[in-house]
Amino acid sequence: MNTLTKAFKTFIRIFTLLLALSLLLVSCEEEKIHFPLEDGDANVTVDKNNKNDKNKGENNNNNNNNSNNNADDAPVSNTGKKRVAITYDDGPHVTRTKLIVDELDKYGFNATFFVIGNRVDGSAYDGSSALKYAAGKGNEIAIHAYTHENYYNECSDKTYEKELSLTYDAIKEEIPDADIKLMRPVGGAITQERIESCKYSVVLWNVDSLDWKYKGEGKENVDTIVSNVMSSVKDGSIILMHDIHENTYKATVEILKQLDAQGYEVVTVSELLGNPRPGVRYSRG
Ligand SMILES: [Zn+2]
Repeated sequence: MNTLTKAFKTFIRIFTLLLALSLLLVSCEEEKIHFPLEDGDANVTVDKNNKNDKNKGENNNNNNNNSNNNADDAPVSNTGKKRVAITYDDGPHVTRTKLIVDELDKYGFNATFFVIGNRVDGSAYDGSSALKYAAGKGNEIAIHAYTHENYYNECSDKTYEKELSLTYDAIKEEIPDADIKLMRPVGGAITQERIESCKYSVVLWNVDSLDWKYKGEGKENVDTIVSNVMSSVKDGSIILMHDIHENTYKATVEILKQLDAQGYEVVTVSELLGNPRPGVRYSRG
């Protein structure tokens, strides 16, 4: 009887161990992180091994809490306040970027602008004055793309390198002392190999305002953008917006008011992350 009980107990132990091991393997291989796209023209799925898959043509409102764990070393605020980073992509825009910067300035806040190079150097748009204005007020300037026409998980090495280097050159031409540490890929799409070899930190987001989708006229659109942010925001969030839209400016006015009232500080991504490392992907939530 004793022998039988022992054998049964051993069997149960081995069975439990095997079950735990198999669950661990399944979760490692199959758990996926879904990243929404900033521009709504594609979806990106990145699994834990960071293989990218893109399905164009779908709009996915799967908009928040998609963080990875690469930013565990983010510092705690020395003011004791909750902190978030608001990021603005696809600018600069001559009037809207400046309006947003002025609004941030009212609170002593700073944001991060992931810019498009051909909107900085005048070849597609003359946003240079807005860029210098934002940088002059202490906002962080970072790289998004030069043309915004290529996804970094599928374009050639030559194209990828040009998108980054031409944007870097365009920024440095206007702001020679700019310390450019961050890069955000178009649509959040980039291969793991390129993340690891990148000389910048690759910054995604975990709160999506979906401002591109609600850029039509009407207060209800602005209210939706505000609500998309405020319903998801928490200490450490990286919020995605686009400073080229009028509603983004209007929503920013309200979002800053509410964040301030709730005791948040708005800081740059580099301040939020502390010391972001090159070759690492960040999306803190
Ligand atoms: Zn973009």
